[in-house]
Amino acid sequence: MTNDPIPNLTAFDEAALDRAFAALERQAREDAAALNGPDALEAFKLKWLGRKQGRLNEVSGRWLKAAPVEAKKLLGVRFNALKVVVEGLYDEATGSGPTDAALAAESIDITLPGTQRLIGAEHPITRTLNEITQVFAALGYSVGVGPEVETDYYNFESMNFPPGHPARDTQDTLVVANQDRRPLRDRLLLRTHTSPVQMRTMEQQPPPLRIVIPGKVHRNDAADATHYPIFHQAEGLCVDTGITFSDLKGTLDHAMKALFGPAVKTRFFPSFFPFTEPSADVQISCIFCGGKGCRKCKQSGWIELLGCGMVAPAVFAFAAEKQPAYDPKKISGFAFGMGVERIAMMKYGISEIGSFFAGDMRFLSQFV
Ligand SMILES: [Zn+2]
Repeated sequence: MTNDPIPNLTAFDEAALDRAFAALERQAREDAAALNGPDALEAFKLKWLGRKQGRLNEVSGRWLKAAPVEAKKLLGVRFNALKVVVEGLYDEATGSGPTDAALAAESIDITLPGTQRLIGAEHPITRTLNEITQVFAALGYSVGVGPEVETDYYNFESMNFPPGHPARDTQDTLVVANQDRRPLRDRLLLRTHTSPVQMRTMEQQPPPLRIVIPGKVHRNDAADATHYPIFHQAEGLCVDTGITFSDLKGTLDHAMKALFGPAVKTRFFPSFFPFTEPSADVQISCIFCGGKGCRKCKQSGWIELLGCGMVAPAVFAFAAEKQPAYDPKKISGFAFGMGVERIAMMKYGISEIGSFFAGDMRFLSQFV
């Protein structure tokens, strides 16, 4: 290690200061390069950074004191830079700072491609459910939800399917096992439609009421191109004083135009559902051929899409057991329901209902 004494400075112009500090830095670097063990390291620290006899301390004492006022700033800047260099040399020698080798090992090749993460997307059923819900939300409907494991009372009896009624046979029901000792109305089943949410909501809320009910339902159907044991419905219920069949027609005509485009026409045919009276099936003009007739609409120009009707007085009577305001003499309402898979299959040109549930990424990634 060099032990040259710190010289006195006689000139304080920039060039003289640069020379003086460069000489000190060179000495510090030579000392650091020659370090060969813990004792030498300690000696280096004492020599350069020691509080009393350290060279940096000596420089700041003697040079700064001797400098004329106008040179003090120039000297201070150079002194601080030298201090950073000496402290860095010490840190590197103790291993507390990263060595060149360590930095090299950690270096990243920013030209390599990064980790690719899959972008999530809405499932086509979720997307279609949201579209339907939004159409009715814009008409002032709120969203109603209910349990998928439902009682016989809410799924059937309160929807005007009395025990033993033949209409129950049209919904191949999956029932929960070992409930024979319970009264029929308390027995559990997987809901076959979203209609029980109509009753659950009416029991909670007096009229006026406008809800749209999106949800999953279950039936013991054999799977084929258009049937599956799981599917989804979007159901609606509107109750108020003076609601008529015209309101129902106007609402559904608007909704079908909002979902399929303003050129779509609707027409209504008499039908039967236990919970509505009168009931109707709704057809829309074929969205593929515009009504001219094609393979998709079996040359008829029309596609049957949903069921609807005026809420049956018997259903209101069940609701009135808990909310007397549902008096069928004072209020009226309509209900409607549609199969979500059927609408999604039409909108996206999907031919197999099973594609929605198979979890095949090749199918699903088309909706990203
Ligand atoms: Zn057609």
